[in-house]
Parts: sequence; C-alpha cells; structure tokens
Amino acid sequence: MEHCKNPWKNTCSNENIKLYIQIKGENLPICYQCWNKIADQNEDW
Ligand SMILES: [Zn+2]
Repeated sequence: MEHCKNPWKNTCSNENIKLYIQIKGENLPICYQCWNKIADQNEDW
C-alpha cells in the first residue's frame, strides 16, 4: 500500500491516505494527519 509523501514532512509514513496533491507534475499521497495540518496552517502551495 502507498504511504504518505507529504513534501512538508517527508518522515511521515502513514498509510491512511486522504488525498493526492499534484506538485511539479507528480501526484503525492497525503495522509489524514498531514492533510489536517496542511489545511489548518493554510500552507503556501
Ligand atoms: Zn502524512
């Protein structure tokens, strides 16, 4: 199973993928925890 590839926290290896984000033509899986954090902090895309 695919694990999280959060570009802002690349040590994360959770497998509960919430969604995929596209960065530089790559689809990166993001887990629930990371997504909540990203949504909270309103990270610069
Ligand atoms: Zn994650």
